[in-house]
Amino acid sequence: MPRVQPASGINSACSAKKPHQLAAIVRYVLISFILFIWTSVSKADWNVVICDNRRYVPIEDVATFYKMNLPVAIGERFRLAAPGRSFEGTNGGRDVYINGVKYVLCFPIVSKDGRTLISAMDVVKIIEPILRPQKIKNSGTVHTVILDAGHGGIDSGATGPFGKEKDAALDVVLRAKKLLQESGYQVRCTRLADVLIPLEKRAAFANRHAKAVFVSVHFNKSNNRGASGLETYCLAPRGVPSMDEENLSYSDYVQHPGHKHDSANIALATTVHAALVRNLGLIDRGVKRARFVVVRNTTIPAILIEGGFMSGTPDAGLVATPEYRQRIAECILDGVNRYKQAVTNQIPYQKPSAVVAATDPTSVPSLEKIAPVVGSKIGIESSVAQAQEALESSVKEN
Ligand SMILES: [Zn+2]
Repeated sequence: MPRVQPASGINSACSAKKPHQLAAIVRYVLISFILFIWTSVSKADWNVVICDNRRYVPIEDVATFYKMNLPVAIGERFRLAAPGRSFEGTNGGRDVYINGVKYVLCFPIVSKDGRTLISAMDVVKIIEPILRPQKIKNSGTVHTVILDAGHGGIDSGATGPFGKEKDAALDVVLRAKKLLQESGYQVRCTRLADVLIPLEKRAAFANRHAKAVFVSVHFNKSNNRGASGLETYCLAPRGVPSMDEENLSYSDYVQHPGHKHDSANIALATTVHAALVRNLGLIDRGVKRARFVVVRNTTIPAILIEGGFMSGTPDAGLVATPEYRQRIAECILDGVNRYKQAVTNQIPYQKPSAVVAATDPTSVPSLEKIAPVVGSKIGIESSVAQAQEALESSVKEN
């Protein structure tokens, strides 16, 4: 053990020290500094486990880091929770519920040596931006909302017994435009009429706007007439399989402009999707990942919503009613408001954020309480007429 002079002596009599004493002091200070750094880093350390050449962390580390209780397991299912936040998943599964809202993970949860592991990619790209949106970098504020009505012109999108996707999407966009403008947002639309706009042009149009977010409105289709529910998509991060693919391909590693906002994308998807699930009462099919042109080519935070199935039950009947489409528009406004609040407010660490509040499981309605709504052709026709009216008055300003 080297003899160390009292600290006061280091300053006052430095020049009088012999070389070996000085070396001992320097060594002591250096060792203390290294020890300090090592202990402070190790407190926040993650126990990284490599599985299939991919980095995973134990679910206990997630619980510790986000100050949730250690996992409570029921069979293959587990749950972490703290006041205002929760995380539920299944060993071997990709579906998780964060604050009661469903997400499809980038990679399945794995079990190894008796431990439950989640991919580091999912911690960084999903859990972190959802639980701590205030830490998202480069998210800025939101002055402008770019609304994108899917399809148009010769491209009808999905068709169902009560109408076409392109008409329902345009109607929702026109309703959302009005609500957002009344709330003080600037709104720009990629289309205001029944015309076909190439997807690349939609993204390029969005990219001309700063301090903006992009919301593309679609309705779903399936050969299964029983298919029902709500989905929200944002760009799959680099190195993550798209949609329901399990295996990676070369295209999954391509860098796209939209990756600049991976964290903001999932935060925006969270707030809008939570609003949809909370207010529309359809099945929550989850926040998912894809590489649609309009989400991968946009340089502003971007999402694509699927507001129900054009042919499914009860979705098709609901989509045909102006009331349902108005509620989707209200959800877009609510989601954008909450997103803006979440990323711009400096909410203290560990306090439930606006995103968390938006996904509070207690605010998600029970599916049993939903009254079946039967739509009619008149619903969609009259709303398209309204859309045309709105189009005539708003086309000049776009
Ligand atoms: Zn579509």
